[in-house]
Amino acid sequence: MDMYVGGRWQGSSEWLDVVSPYSGEVIDRVPVATPKQIEEALATAERGAVVMRGLGGAARADILRRAADLLDADVEQIARTISLEVGKPIAEASGEASRLGEMFRLASFEGTQIRGETLPLDAQAGAEGKLGFTLRIPTGVVVAITPFNYPGLLVVHKIAPALAAGNAVILKPASQAPLTALIITEKLIEAGLPGVGLQTITGGGRAVGMALVRDARVRKVSFTGSTAVGEEITRVAGVKRLSLELGANCPMIVMPDADLELAAEASATGGYVNAGQVCISLQRVIVHEDIYEDYLEALREPVAGFRMGDPLAADTKIGAMISETEAARVARWVDEAVASGARVVIGGQRDGAKLFPTVVADVTPGMKLSQQEVFGPTLSVIRAAGIDQAIALANDSNYGLGAGIFTKNVTDALRFAREVEAGSIHINWTPLWRADLMPYGGLKGSGIGKEGIRYAVEEMTELKTVVIHGLEGEPS
Ligand code: NAD
Repeated sequence: MDMYVGGRWQGSSEWLDVVSPYSGEVIDRVPVATPKQIEEALATAERGAVVMRGLGGAARADILRRAADLLDADVEQIARTISLEVGKPIAEASGEASRLGEMFRLASFEGTQIRGETLPLDAQAGAEGKLGFTLRIPTGVVVAITPFNYPGLLVVHKIAPALAAGNAVILKPASQAPLTALIITEKLIEAGLPGVGLQTITGGGRAVGMALVRDARVRKVSFTGSTAVGEEITRVAGVKRLSLELGANCPMIVMPDADLELAAEASATGGYVNAGQVCISLQRVIVHEDIYEDYLEALREPVAGFRMGDPLAADTKIGAMISETEAARVARWVDEAVASGARVVIGGQRDGAKLFPTVVADVTPGMKLSQQEVFGPTLSVIRAAGIDQAIALANDSNYGLGAGIFTKNVTDALRFAREVEAGSIHINWTPLWRADLMPYGGLKGSGIGKEGIRYAVEEMTELKTVVIHGLEGEPS
């Protein structure tokens, strides 16, 4: 597919193959943007910001609603593309594809709800007789950089609020999975979005992403991806607004009073969606020692029952990881944990990019499975003596995106909600749950800022203060 830059579809002198992680076959190819094309995108976006601001909320909402209908009409093709480029089971890809239209509708509404407020200036002595109010304005040029794991959902979580709020967007989708983003771009242009309003530029993250992030014409960078790249962005961005949705190694506590069957079933969902390649994937299960073996036993059936295979087959639960290198990394971390005293309860085998769903018990805090982000189909089970130790273990991480607890004890649940350092807290569920309207974003190394359409609209606008002096009949 061509990329969309400068209001037209363009190729390039160099191309990047898009490869199915499952079959290894080349599905398509996308251009590697040249420095000249990157410059064209930035210059166009500067003009686009003026056009988008001038459109007005109602016109922008109309376009987004039309795009939503076009996306809904093509859910099957989009799901197939997601499945092919990520190696994600088609059932999950269909779920992802069918959320996109609704997110655009939500954004079309939130984009018409952007308000300021009047300021009680007379509360400060000497400011009587002045009228103050705030205006919320678009930020201007927004650069959106997205990861491979949800090539539809995470693109729309950025571009829908950015466009609804009246910005021009340059989207740089993941190099491994850029096709879904290009289809979404097609739909928006077909829906009547001005060609300068959205540009989708493809190529390597380092060359294209960094050139965009550095540029002074860009006012806002909205990035979702690894903590390492997020840190790099903070170093080069300069004076810009940053939203960073980064890595995680989400914990969940299981207490003795929990519904164990439910906790085990939920773990089997929370740890293995998209082969564990979800930022809010359940990674560390911290289980009270009184029910430790019972929990492992309860987990056996649901996890062992997963069908691995062709992502395009309707009954496949686990497809491939994004690459063989990534699958080999996770398998290596499992081996290292076993060498340090952990035990594999289920799985552990690997075939190329396909890693079998794995449960590792007796994981301890120093192991990579516990400290780092695994981003693979592997649950690490850790023993705890009580709620105090369990909370300390949950917080023993540089990350803080999502966390869950299974308990019937309200006191423990509320203590967990207060004390666990994570952006989203789930009582009686795993961290892997999200509604697109809720505020979503991490603490600590998991990032800065919130997504969730309404919250993203706020982050993609800026506040101006207006003061009217010398009102007639009033002291100035
Ligand atoms: P990644 O950091 O390798 O890449 C993300 C994006 O950044 C891609 O588009 C890539 O091309 C681009 N990029 C790479 N180097 C760059 C650079 N130097 N400058 C600018 N852009 C650059 O991440 P990934 O492997 O695609 O995705 C997996 C990571 O994303 C995991 O760490 C996961 O936790 C994280 N993630 C976080 C969330 C969240 O909401 N917190 C959601 C999904 C994924």
